[in-house]
Amino acid sequence: MSKIKDIQFSMKTYEYEKPFHITGSIASYATNIEVKVMLENGVEGYGEASPSFRVNGEKPEMIMALESFAKEMLTGIDVAEYRKIFQVTDKLLATPSLKAATQYAVLDALSQEAGLEVYQLLGGATKQIETDKTVGIDTLENRVADAKKIFEAGFKTIKIKVGEDLKEDIQAMYEIYKVSKGAKYIVDANMGYTPKQAVEFANQVYQAGIDIAVFEQPVYMSDIDGLRFVRFNVPFPVAADESAKTKFDVLRLIKEEAVDYVNIKLMKSGVSDAISIVELVKSANMKLMIGCMGESSVGINQSVHFAFGTGAFDFCDLDSHLMLKEERFRGKFIQDGSKMIARK
Ligand code: MN
Repeated sequence: MSKIKDIQFSMKTYEYEKPFHITGSIASYATNIEVKVMLENGVEGYGEASPSFRVNGEKPEMIMALESFAKEMLTGIDVAEYRKIFQVTDKLLATPSLKAATQYAVLDALSQEAGLEVYQLLGGATKQIETDKTVGIDTLENRVADAKKIFEAGFKTIKIKVGEDLKEDIQAMYEIYKVSKGAKYIVDANMGYTPKQAVEFANQVYQAGIDIAVFEQPVYMSDIDGLRFVRFNVPFPVAADESAKTKFDVLRLIKEEAVDYVNIKLMKSGVSDAISIVELVKSANMKLMIGCMGESSVGINQSVHFAFGTGAFDFCDLDSHLMLKEERFRGKFIQDGSKMIARK
């Protein structure tokens, strides 16, 4: 096996096919940082950081400023000793997306050394997953048209963003249901509701005969009591996303019985905490989904391999690369409609 010789960062901006509107944020572009890890024997491993200011307080410039520090931190460590690299990069608390990209780039390099795919290094549990696709906040007509298009394209699970206007959101659920009967719904409020509004929303939807597979992050990230209140007062499973960044967050959510699901994102947790969170959540007999920020196919590849390797997820919400304009697909997996399939 081989030691790390150099690390290089490069900033890349991707335009969304359509401005992506969620509670409190409209994005036209995603600015990501590619991390290239170079080994002494010439092997190169790739990762991608997709920093989220809204969730993690990160900006791309913060990541770029750490390039020489990352090089200093990791040069000379053998990629086969990747737990050592996890320990060192676990200290990147202010830049979790960089932690993810660096850790993954190391695994990507090691996988080439070992003649395996990253998902095999991570456990090789499954070779196929299926992603949902997301309907952003928009006019009622556009939300319905987008949902119809997604459903007709063969996506079995539709993710619906809500949280800015309770009445419009309920109306959107009624109308989307009419054009996508048989679909599963993940509804994500991105912290937009009060606990009472979240209960009101869920009850109205339930009374219309609509099932929600996962009701994601209804209330503010620090409102753990609010999450628990929603969990025990709505007929649907409730998930933590913004409330669940590190393994320590998830330990608390479990102790407080606040949720049914945890949405793991490598950009919040890195690979190292994501591994811990899988084990914590399974130990508590709760469920997992995996999501993304604004990753291109390079960054989505990381979560796809994590999902293949662990086989831990009831739902995969890995669609950012399907929403961004990219010159060419760079994932080390096969995208076939909603399906993602291992190359070998
Ligand atoms: Mn979410």
